[in-house]
Amino acid sequence: MNKKLYVISGSSGVGKGTVLKGFLEKNPEFMLSVSCTTRKPRKGEIDGVNYFFLSDEEFKNCIEKDKFLEWAEFAENFYGTKKKYINQCLDEGKNVILEIDTKGALQVKARMPDAVLIFICPPSFEELEERLRGRHTEDEQTIQKRLSEAKAEFERAKNFDYKIINDNVENAIKALEKITGVANA
Ligand code: 5GP
Repeated sequence: MNKKLYVISGSSGVGKGTVLKGFLEKNPEFMLSVSCTTRKPRKGEIDGVNYFFLSDEEFKNCIEKDKFLEWAEFAENFYGTKKKYINQCLDEGKNVILEIDTKGALQVKARMPDAVLIFICPPSFEELEERLRGRHTEDEQTIQKRLSEAKAEFERAKNFDYKIINDNVENAIKALEKITGVANA
């Protein structure tokens, strides 16, 4: 199997983290890229594991030095993927998964047309709102911002290669295995 770059996007609260975790546990030949962000760490998040947490200054510096394969502003924070990091992972013979927003995903596709873009959707918008609130990690203002961003993401996802509806985690993992070519069925 050729080593490939897969880009997975989905609105916050859609459960893409759970789907990806399940997929990666079953398929260790895939690795999740670690992004850079200016967002403050949430409880339990570790620098270098969940994200590389950068200051605004450090992030701007990377933009100026053209170090990012893609970057985007999302809900008033910056997020980006380092070119060097991705190339190193691909050179090591790993299938790399980027879990990034739709704006960043489209930038990756423009620069690396072989990258496969996958959008994970909630069964409905109402369900997305429920999931986001149920997480209890964001305040109301942040939730509202993320909901309006989710609408814009649905629009951009029209240009993606695949969509997976996450109504059931196991089924979503199976759909991802089929797209990535690891499913035997
Ligand atoms: P969160 O703050 O919930 O961890 O992530 C918010 C959003 O930022 C999610 O949609 C996530 O996919 C996106 N994101 C995470 N890392 C990156 C990145 O490196 N680049 C871009 N463009 N988006 C990212």
